[in-house]
Amino acid sequence: MKFTPRHTFAGNAGYRLLPLRFRRLPWDESRVLVTSMAGDWLITQREEFERAVEGRLNRAEPLFAEMEARHLIAADPNHSTLAPLLSQYRTRKSYLEHGPALHIFVVSLRCHHTCAYCQVSRQPVGNTIFDMSNATAAHAVERLFEWPSPTLTVEFQGGEPLLHFARIHALVEVIEQRNRSEGRTLRFVIASTLHDLTAEQLAFMRDHQFELSTSLDGPEWLHNANRPRPERDSYQRTIEGIERGRKALGEDAVSALTTLTRRSLEAPHEIIDEYRKLGFHSISLRPLSPYGFARKTEGRNGYPMADFLRFYEVALDHLLAVNREGYFLEETYGRMLLSQLLTPFSHGYVDLRSPTGAGLGAVVYDYDGRVYPSDEARMLASMGDHAFALGRVDESVSAWLDSPAMQRVLAAGVAEALPTCADCAYVPLCGADPIDHYARQGDTIGHRPTSDFCRKQMGLFDLLLQRWEQGSATDQRILEDWALRATRRGTAREAEAA
Ligand code: SF4
Repeated sequence: MKFTPRHTFAGNAGYRLLPLRFRRLPWDESRVLVTSMAGDWLITQREEFERAVEGRLNRAEPLFAEMEARHLIAADPNHSTLAPLLSQYRTRKSYLEHGPALHIFVVSLRCHHTCAYCQVSRQPVGNTIFDMSNATAAHAVERLFEWPSPTLTVEFQGGEPLLHFARIHALVEVIEQRNRSEGRTLRFVIASTLHDLTAEQLAFMRDHQFELSTSLDGPEWLHNANRPRPERDSYQRTIEGIERGRKALGEDAVSALTTLTRRSLEAPHEIIDEYRKLGFHSISLRPLSPYGFARKTEGRNGYPMADFLRFYEVALDHLLAVNREGYFLEETYGRMLLSQLLTPFSHGYVDLRSPTGAGLGAVVYDYDGRVYPSDEARMLASMGDHAFALGRVDESVSAWLDSPAMQRVLAAGVAEALPTCADCAYVPLCGADPIDHYARQGDTIGHRPTSDFCRKQMGLFDLLLQRWEQGSATDQRILEDWALRATRRGTAREAEAA
């Protein structure tokens, strides 16, 4: 629920409400979470809050000072300034300043896996017509430097991008050469199964400080079941790739993501213990997305968001237990949400922005020269729906930004202006995902009460806030540490694994 200045008044105490929203705590309905326009918040008794809204709060009460400090009230409407609130708002949205920092180059759609939940329309290994051509690559590099961001993360994706490593090699050399005059900070990432890494590729990656992102779904039985190969050695090959990558590029240069199928939901402890056993300090627990082969196999692998949330709760408690034992292991999506809750900073994670990160935080250059505002838009196109194609690599960036597709994304891309979100206490900390809503509900604006995106956001915000609020001092420190690490990582997004 939201109160805006038209609800404000100077009550007996002479203060004025600033724009605020509130939510009854699901775990204690006698209290409310109250958030400011810039995402500062407090938790208080519902009755106290009602008195505050009605103008009956006494200046001597602690809640008065707390609400003033969090920009929920202006103590003296005639003399108070909104400058600190606006400065906080600017900080929270600072990811808007420089345009897209994440640039995804899809160098080939070829892949040798047959994952049932693949989000991309993979192609057979020998089908080289699905590789990025010289001309497309050259245009894409030109466009890359048209964007103003001082930091450019170039992420190579597929299919399996290592199957077209010659293209990656050539692109890196051209980008670095061009960057001698541009002076941007470059970061190269490959999202790969790591099954086909050669010594030469690793040497090249080491010379150019690559990071590797792979998919590891958990213990051997689960990974092999989710990612079948005729030889049934997918897990073994991924582990070997991780070890070789770490040896060549350093321990921290290799990260892994988990995609959760229905059978994964039964194994939260086993998945987390596997990551710990392999020495990871980060795990990413992702529900299935409604794209590509994942949609075709939804009946077999899919599950309701409520099942994911139940899984996540068990996983979070196990992660906290692992951390209490002295082993640092964070969950990356939870870390982003915690950074929103517990710090005033902007994390820049493209899927959690408002205005949306699609096209404003990330751009995808597909193998065939088409350009998309997000990976999800590319996946929809691979299913035959080109609603969000911005244009082609031989057109200018300004033409993409003027395209009907981008206008459509922007029209539904500000969470604060969307039905239901506009009144939600979490909106200053949440994001807009018009392409996800289009994919799931057939409409970029979408319907939040039945939206899986919203169920996930609301469920995770509630869970994380509850664990932090009711947790021991040790658990609070663990969650705060995750939040601070998210802000230290700046605008980098976790790379999406193939
Ligand atoms: S998506 Fe849901 S949780 Fe996020 S702001 Fe909108 S209503 Fe709130």
